[in-house]
Amino acid sequence: MKISQFLSVSLSLVGVARAAPARAKDHETLQRRGPKEYLDCSPEQQAALQAALEDMFRITDKPLQEFFVDGINSFDPNKLAYAHYFRNEDRDMVAAAFKALHDAANPAMSLAVSYNIQCAAEGIAGCASGDLAFTQPFPEDFVGGGEIAGVRKVVVCPAFFTESRTTRRLPETQEEIDAYCQFKESKRFNEFETGAHTLLHEISHLDSFGLAAGYPARNQPAGLHFPTFDYHGTDDWHQISTPGNGRILKSGNAGDKIETWENAESLAAFSLEYWVATVCGLEDVPL
Ligand SMILES: [Zn+2]
Repeated sequence: MKISQFLSVSLSLVGVARAAPARAKDHETLQRRGPKEYLDCSPEQQAALQAALEDMFRITDKPLQEFFVDGINSFDPNKLAYAHYFRNEDRDMVAAAFKALHDAANPAMSLAVSYNIQCAAEGIAGCASGDLAFTQPFPEDFVGGGEIAGVRKVVVCPAFFTESRTTRRLPETQEEIDAYCQFKESKRFNEFETGAHTLLHEISHLDSFGLAAGYPARNQPAGLHFPTFDYHGTDDWHQISTPGNGRILKSGNAGDKIETWENAESLAAFSLEYWVATVCGLEDVPL
C-alpha cells in the first residue's frame, strides 16, 4: 500500500478503534512471539498469527545463514531467487533487512522491531474484498491527523484467516515437504505462499523495521489531514504489491524507481522463492 492509502486507511481506523476497543483478554496466556500485543484477535486468530510468525522466523533464517558467515556476506547473488529481485550491490542492505525481519519474528528479540497486530473487523476501510492486511507507516513519535504517539499496528483482515495463500504453513516434516513440493514443476508462486509471506511484507512497512535495518529516512509530504513526516519502512512501488512488480523494479528502466530493498514485496517474494528453491530443489518459480 502506498503512503497516501495508508493515511486514509489509518484515519478511518481511528474511528474503528474507538468504536470497538475490545482487546483479547487471554493474549497473555499464549506464548508471546513478535508483536507486543494482539488487539481484537480471538484465541484461534492469535494462534494462527503466531504460527505464521514461527514460519516467518524459519523463512528468514534460511538466507540469513548465508548472509552472515563469520561476519562475511557469503550469499551468492547469482542465485535466481535473489537475482529476480535484487542486484549484486544490494547484498548488504538485504542482509540487514533480513536480520531485522528475523528479529521481528523472534520472541527473544521482540523489542528490536516494535509493533502490535490487530485483527480487523469485517468490512473496515483498508480491508476490502481480497485484502489480507495493511500497516501503519507512522514513526512511533508521530502526532497529527488524529494519530497519537505509540507502537504502530499491522492490521490483519478477515481474509487472512480463510485464504489458502495465508492459512498454508511452511512444511516441516518430510511428509509435509513432499506434499508441499509435489507437482512443483507446474505450481505457481502463490501455490507455495504462506501466512509468513504476508506478515513479512507488512512488517517491513513499519518505521520501526526500517530503523532496525538501518534504512535511510524518506520524507512524506504533508497531506490534507496529516503533517509531513519522515519514515524508514518499505513502500509498495507503483502501489503494487506483487512479486512480478518486484522483478520489474529490479530490471526495468523506469525513472521513478526506489531501491530494490525499499520495496516490501521484493523482500517477501525473495524469502519465499529462496525457501522453495532450497527445500523443493526448484531453480525457478513461475509467477
Ligand atoms: Zn505493502
